[in-house]
Amino acid sequence: MGPPGAGKGTQAEKVAGELNLAHVAPGDLFRQAVSRGDELGNEVKAYMERGELVPDAITIRVILGSLVNAHSGNGVVLDGFPRNINQARALDDALGKQNKAIDRAVYIKVDQKELVRRLSGRWLCSECQAPYFYDAKAEPKSNSCPNCGGKLYQRPDDKPETVEKRLQVYFDETSPLIDYYRKQNKLVEVCGEGGISEVKERIIKALGTTGVNNN
Ligand code: AMP
Repeated sequence: MGPPGAGKGTQAEKVAGELNLAHVAPGDLFRQAVSRGDELGNEVKAYMERGELVPDAITIRVILGSLVNAHSGNGVVLDGFPRNINQARALDDALGKQNKAIDRAVYIKVDQKELVRRLSGRWLCSECQAPYFYDAKAEPKSNSCPNCGGKLYQRPDDKPETVEKRLQVYFDETSPLIDYYRKQNKLVEVCGEGGISEVKERIIKALGTTGVNNN
């Protein structure tokens, strides 16, 4: 968990790789559907462009479906889900029926000014989804991904008006989840500022603990 720009996608991918966990992210699934132009893509496109949450009925169906297919004996990193209390309850119910549960909710904390700076300079690979950060006013030197050669693009919902809306949605709808998981003693808080590996190490360390502040 964390506001847009906190580094959820970057860190979820690193942590999943290091701990051999599956990585499930509704934002990635929705963006892929939009670029395929399929039925799901048409359903979610307008919400994403406005910086709003996709309706719960769609999101819950997609995520619970992809959890069934996420083959990892070790577990799953959920990145960007749940994003409101209703989704959290639906997830708890579905996992409970299989005698499973959320182990930890990692809350990545980043100062708001830093969030806006990061989002306005973010470029993504259209193939492997890797994020790259450049000075907000500068274009990347090459527009292909250093990792796989895919074309780099800026997310349409990273434009300033939409970033503001996404931050608002986060504070109104998602931040109540902090208390939801704190009450279950599953919340771990991690400072998301600093280098990518530095933050990743904090998260790995925090996953071994509960109810502590890992700044
Ligand atoms: P993200 O890549 O996590 O920043 O998500 C991009 C966009 O996808 C969000 O602004 C929402 O429109 C949509 N989205 C991602 N996760 C969820 C979710 N759990 N519930 C509803 N909409 C979501």
